[in-house]
Amino acid sequence: MASDETTMDKIVSLCKRRGFIFPSSEIYGGINGFWDYGPLGVELKRNIKDAWWHDMVVCPPPGPGGQEITIVGVDCALIMNPRVWETSGHLSEGFADPMVDCRSCKGRFRADKVWLVAWVIKDDPENYRNPPVVKGVEAESEQEALGQATLSKSKEKKLPDGSEKVAAPLENARGIGWPPVCPGCGAPDLTPPRAFNLMFKTYVGALEESSSVAYLRPETAQGMFVNFKNIVDTQRVRVPFGIAQIGKAFRNEINPRNFTFRSREFEQMEMEFFCRPDTAREWYDFWCDARLKWYTDLWISPDKLRQRVQDDDERAHYSVATTDIEYLYPFSDEPQELEGVAHRNVDANHDVGAHQKASGKDLTYYDDEAKQRYHPHVIEPASGVDRFALVALCEAYHEQDIVGAKGKPETRVFMRLHPRLAPIKAAVFPLVKRDGMPERALAIYHAIRRHYPAFYDEKGAIGRRYARQDEAGTPFCFTVDGQTAQDGTVTVRWRDTLEQERIDASRCLDYVRDQLTGDPPGTRGAERTP
Ligand SMILES: [Zn+2]
Repeated sequence: MASDETTMDKIVSLCKRRGFIFPSSEIYGGINGFWDYGPLGVELKRNIKDAWWHDMVVCPPPGPGGQEITIVGVDCALIMNPRVWETSGHLSEGFADPMVDCRSCKGRFRADKVWLVAWVIKDDPENYRNPPVVKGVEAESEQEALGQATLSKSKEKKLPDGSEKVAAPLENARGIGWPPVCPGCGAPDLTPPRAFNLMFKTYVGALEESSSVAYLRPETAQGMFVNFKNIVDTQRVRVPFGIAQIGKAFRNEINPRNFTFRSREFEQMEMEFFCRPDTAREWYDFWCDARLKWYTDLWISPDKLRQRVQDDDERAHYSVATTDIEYLYPFSDEPQELEGVAHRNVDANHDVGAHQKASGKDLTYYDDEAKQRYHPHVIEPASGVDRFALVALCEAYHEQDIVGAKGKPETRVFMRLHPRLAPIKAAVFPLVKRDGMPERALAIYHAIRRHYPAFYDEKGAIGRRYARQDEAGTPFCFTVDGQTAQDGTVTVRWRDTLEQERIDASRCLDYVRDQLTGDPPGTRGAERTP
């Protein structure tokens, strides 16, 4: 029976089964926080990046007043001069998580995620300070901590009358006097919190010494800031304009989790939009809405997306205002981050201003209309390729009860990916492997694959072939059958509705192209990169 619920287990299993995503170096037991994309996954990721690049750099949406927007691209090195990270604040505690280590089992935990749960008599101060039982757990909230810590019936019986279960964050628990119990092994042996920098450290050149230390970039944004002057000097761009980059970034997350949601190696799609300070608010609002619309245009349901303005205490040190675009992932009851749109600080201590101070190079912009020299403000929509791939997969997963080939009820699994994101755009089948059908089908397949990823399959029952393409998210299947030889038509079967129509065999390529450009079938409109 099909159930409405899309669970992470179903997504992870489909990703493995169909070759979207595998654990990295799996034959050696994998490595926590790293993932490999398989043949379908790599196409999905490429389509996401192509769609973003097209819609942000090649052909951005019109601005708030309908004006044309200019955005140029860069592709910067993964390893930059370490002074970049000094200046950006990534080497300071602002980019460090407070961690506690267990002296006993050597486990390492984020200090703000450790809770102690004790069974106490609340109005007995002596008992409260020295409870008979204290447990350590990792949890996001008091509720979760209380739920995680349990006692066996027999232990519960031994507690003094009137004992209650109480949870406190590790930080407060130390104040009360409760022992710092390890969530891993239960030993009361956690160290005080220490700052742990999230950047991966390496050495450049032959010598492993402090002067050769470098870091894998933890974000792509700084590459755009340090190239600001190069872009202004060489590209004849005028404020407002954007610099965009897609590339890998690395963070040594302590607790990678939820499949690819929090990984140690990930790919970012970031754009720094430089604008006149007095227009920054308008551009911030514009990009918040434009970015949300980008996702709904790619069939992410508006019900599962929301914009959430970050509170003062959660905003990064560089940000004046940030709106997260959040998605309701199957692993959480609350929507979680997909993209952040930040209005970044541009005073002398941040971004271009800070790089000017640290490098001694004049990085101001001369506005020849306003006859003014200034640091433009920056609006930064920052999205993750892997995160959007996960969202697209979760959103696409559908189960449907159907009557199978032998009249038995079956569950059909299909991935309702937007045609622009679908790894394979079309599959071509001969109904049977004779009567000239394979030759006709191959001709159609060869015509399509010159332009789009396509798949040819002549083996097995046609129902099984359709089912495999449904799970891969292929939007259309073209089938050559007995009628093709007579009138030159083939059937097109739609993945989502199972509807079939007959079209002329010569129109298959146009048919695929029309679906990708968003024009109604048969009306070839402006070309658009998928
Ligand atoms: Zn331990």
